[in-house]
Amino acid sequence: AVEAARAALARLVLDVPDFPEPGIVFKDITPLLADHAGLTAVVAALAEAGRDAEGNVVVDKVLGMEARGFILAAPVALALGIGFVPVRKVGKLPRETHAVSYALEYGEATLELHRDAVAPGERVLLVDDVLATGGTVKATRELVEACGGSAHAVAVLMELGFLPGRETVGDLPVTTLMTV
Ligand code: AMP
Repeated sequence: AVEAARAALARLVLDVPDFPEPGIVFKDITPLLADHAGLTAVVAALAEAGRDAEGNVVVDKVLGMEARGFILAAPVALALGIGFVPVRKVGKLPRETHAVSYALEYGEATLELHRDAVAPGERVLLVDDVLATGGTVKATRELVEACGGSAHAVAVLMELGFLPGRETVGDLPVTTLMTV
């Protein structure tokens, strides 16, 4: 199953040089999302990060980071039989939130999580498309912990191996389908 996901990534993710600014090679996953077999394979592979070796689901929620994380995290949550929670850019969530600001590979951002989106003691799986500097994952973990929950692992399609993403996320296990 992981092999099918890797093959789909290799075939269907496009490198777009100098987007959104010079020097960044943007990983465009839209052709992968448009391919049913490819999308099915990567969702199944990401969902494995929420199970133990026996196949039991060991997380309570799947968190997706705006915006491409949403697209992947919601079907991962369905595959695991649990709920999905959005982590959003500042000003989008309508009720009381926790907020964390952090540096991006390009620019700066603030993320928010509804205060009641993760219950105290809950374990969550974080899902996004790309792990770059790791700042997004680190900030999301802080949001989960502000709610009293804990991050179990992070699952991404791709990791940019030339950036210190793993060091930034510390002891949080990272499942990645492809390192570029
Ligand atoms: P970071 O916080 O630096 O790990 O960046 C991760 C976030 O930025 C993810 O939500 C990605 O979707 C996005 N991102 C960063 N670098 C890229 C890239 N080269 N191509 C596509 N998305 C990226």
